[in-house]
Amino acid sequence: MNKTYDVVVVGAGVIGTSCAYHLVKKGFTVALVEKDDVAKGTSSHCDGVALITDKMPGVDAALGYASINRFKELKEELSYDFELHQRGSLYLCETDEEMEAASKYAKDLAAEGYKVYAMTPEEMLEKEPFLAKDLKGGVFSEECLGINPFKLCFAYVNEVKGKGLDVYAQTEVTGIKLNDKNEVEGVETTKGVITTKRVVNACGVWAPEVGKMVGLDIPIIPRKGVILVSSATFPICKQKVHEFGYMVSKFGLDVKRPEELEKYGVSFTIEPSAGNNVLVGSSRNFAGYGTHAEIEVINTIAKRACRFFPILKEINCVRSYAGVRPFVEEHLPLITQVDEVPGYYIAAGHEGDGISMSPVTGQLISELIAGEETCRDVAPFSFNRYKKEA
Ligand SMILES: Cc1cc2nc3c(=O)[nH]c(=O)nc-3n(C[C@H](O)[C@H](O)[C@H](O)COP(=O)(O)OP(=O)(O)OC[C@H]3O[C@@H](n4cnc5c(N)ncnc54)[C@H](O)[C@@H]3O)c2cc1C
Repeated sequence: MNKTYDVVVVGAGVIGTSCAYHLVKKGFTVALVEKDDVAKGTSSHCDGVALITDKMPGVDAALGYASINRFKELKEELSYDFELHQRGSLYLCETDEEMEAASKYAKDLAAEGYKVYAMTPEEMLEKEPFLAKDLKGGVFSEECLGINPFKLCFAYVNEVKGKGLDVYAQTEVTGIKLNDKNEVEGVETTKGVITTKRVVNACGVWAPEVGKMVGLDIPIIPRKGVILVSSATFPICKQKVHEFGYMVSKFGLDVKRPEELEKYGVSFTIEPSAGNNVLVGSSRNFAGYGTHAEIEVINTIAKRACRFFPILKEINCVRSYAGVRPFVEEHLPLITQVDEVPGYYIAAGHEGDGISMSPVTGQLISELIAGEETCRDVAPFSFNRYKKEA
């Protein structure tokens, strides 16, 4: 390989494919370089929802909401069907303490203009008749999209492949070439060198490795999650349903949870899929890069699921899988140029929100590279947040 491109995007997960799509739309030639294949990393070992109600009020929710709106445009823009469905999202509360925290959370989001409100157990049962009948209440939002994440990656790629985008699968990036001003000059791969002045590191949990290639310390660590898949079934749930404990384990909120759940950060989630299977989750723990779904975690998730949807005792689990979320301490992704290395960009660290935030991430990276005014303030997503005060 001895090629030249305007931009090289490293990593063909949902973030890299969205960046590639948005960059080609701006007129750039792009090489998308992937050590395995499109959507073989975390982006195919996850659920597929885009929500506001799993974000923190403020910048996090605003980025989520902007992406929800962008998804509605992408449904028209992309010819490949990625199974976008508008559904609701419902949180369940088991205790008064949870209900109090959930009501405050709903109020804070509503104060920012999102349609989120608390619900009584009776209202919840109207929405989801198979729910357990002893719950304290919950929080509902209409703003939730269901997406097939695997197909979304292919939708981004297929739209522009051969029209400015070349995909190099089974091609690992092994080094980044810099000139004597520390500017990007090229990308070294297992299949040869690509000449370029701009590279986007979209490597999810592996972003730190590609950061080291230019001397950067990118503090992303893998946070594992396990999902169970049911056999095809009659409709058990109509929307994303999760216990409020999901927010507790995602953000480390100060709400007491049973020890057997805290061990692996298990909190119940369920969502319908286009194939009439339900996806049941999930867990959150720091256990390295491995994606083995442990039987103890599977059992804990299954038990928890039957507590909230007793009907699940009658349904078979046909498989399970695990993925690793690219976690950063601040719960905000990196969508950023790197001032010390001109031409080097990072789009990574989306933890449990990469599918949902992919549209605006790709858009922002394409605007940054084009030198345009960005559609939203990128300061909160900047790599500069790790700069130490002198
Ligand atoms: C259980 C679970 C449930 C989830 N549910 C949701 C959800 O409902 N909604 C949501 O928004 N998010 C969800 N997420 C999070 C979401 O899956 C991730 O945030 C997202 O997939 C990250 O995408 P990515 O493109 O950054 O990483 P990846 O998809 O991992 O892509 C990175 C790619 O980079 C490649 N790569 C790495 N190093 C190199 C190299 N040197 N050279 C070339 N290629 C390289 C890898 O092979 C990989 O394909 C969930 C995650 C899990 C684990």
